[in-house]
Amino acid sequence: MELTKIICDAGILGAGGAGFPTHVKVNCKAQYVLANGAECEPLLRVDQQVMQVDAAAVVRGIRAVKEFVGAEHAVICLKAHYHAAVDALKAEIGSADDVRLHLLETYYPAGDEQQIVYEVTGKVVPTGGLPLDVGAVVCNVSTLANIAAAIDGKKVIDKYVTVGGAVKTPMTLKVPVGISLTKLLEAAGGTTCDCAYIIGGPCMGMVVDTTDIPVTKTTGGILAIPKEHPLLQQKSPSLDLRLIKSVCCQCTMCTQMCPRNALGLNVQPHKAMRSLANGIDLLGDFNGIFSCCNCGICTYQACNFGLKPSQAMQTLKSAMASDGIRPRKEVFGAVSEGMGALKLPVSRLVGRLGLLQYDVPAPMQDKALAADCVRIKLHMGVGAPSVAVVATGDKVRKNQLVADIAEKKLGVKMHASISGTVTEVTQEYIEIRKVTK
Ligand code: SF4
Ligand code: SF4
Repeated sequence: MELTKIICDAGILGAGGAGFPTHVKVNCKAQYVLANGAECEPLLRVDQQVMQVDAAAVVRGIRAVKEFVGAEHAVICLKAHYHAAVDALKAEIGSADDVRLHLLETYYPAGDEQQIVYEVTGKVVPTGGLPLDVGAVVCNVSTLANIAAAIDGKKVIDKYVTVGGAVKTPMTLKVPVGISLTKLLEAAGGTTCDCAYIIGGPCMGMVVDTTDIPVTKTTGGILAIPKEHPLLQQKSPSLDLRLIKSVCCQCTMCTQMCPRNALGLNVQPHKAMRSLANGIDLLGDFNGIFSCCNCGICTYQACNFGLKPSQAMQTLKSAMASDGIRPRKEVFGAVSEGMGALKLPVSRLVGRLGLLQYDVPAPMQDKALAADCVRIKLHMGVGAPSVAVVATGDKVRKNQLVADIAEKKLGVKMHASISGTVTEVTQEYIEIRKVTK
């Protein structure tokens, strides 16, 4: 069977980012296949441990994609200090020369797709473009492990998730897709104080005030953060325009430290601040706004006045998108000669975020977490929601298809992650409960 069909039938989407359907992503010809194992967000510990415990699957997955897309190069990118993962991958690759490792420094955002592509190929993905525009396909290491499992007939019904921050025992768990985040926090011993939560990493993750949220195929972490912690205010989407107007001195530090701007993509958050605060159009070309990856360096590290230029960029990006403005495909200028000096050490970022006490190991647990009830979300990533193919009252078995890709749409199949009875089907999810005798 063709690899894209195997991947599609297994319900694989990008495990580490926006959740692009993998059968569509790899349906191409490319020069490079890059495995992204950099896991740049502080406190998350999934990818490095997946590469350690499942090195064989990661290597097998990248080999399968390399062959399918006809690539010359298969490169696994990870940080040099992930020693256990490096050793496991080296042992798996052995003397073969069809897959190689690219070891990265410990900087943020090393795991940004743009950075990975530039690190390995020396090419810059244009604004509005894809890595394929420069001949590369980038897959998260867990996605590649899922591809290897799919070749053996397995479906994506589990996810590795780090539970960190202010919990009693930080850990990384294998859990069924659809399990409530509340169960993960319980497994980690609960929180140590009154907390809010971030789904994902501290920089790019989303703040939520409830944990009654199901794990999806893209969930990488749940972090408990004390309610009074300043990070929560920094992550709030609200922008105080009067504050920006009176405090932003247009020093341009946010722009100078922006990693996407350093790649020559004309990402200039200081101009976004000026535009919003004064209610004027952006001066100059605005296309670069679409290249902002929301890494937050401008907010968390660059601005000494506690302003939120990254939020200004998201606000303008959303406004432009809702006005129907689409990015032009272009690389604006040359890569900055000072790019190397701009690499932000993760330890410095963690200190700046006020998270040093939570920067601890989150070891992978031997036993997978079980669930009595799961809610399989119908929309987990890029594309249209999946369409339920089961109804309330149906008995389903683990691995059974419960939602299919909408006709002629981009999307992904969903499978039951536990055996049981379908107890609810809504526009958003399918609920399955184990039958208790
Ligand atoms: S947002 Fe902060 S870093 Fe950026 S120009 Fe204004 S004061 Fe400077
Ligand atoms: S969040 Fe800030 S630093 Fe990051 S890409 Fe966007 S503008 Fe640049």
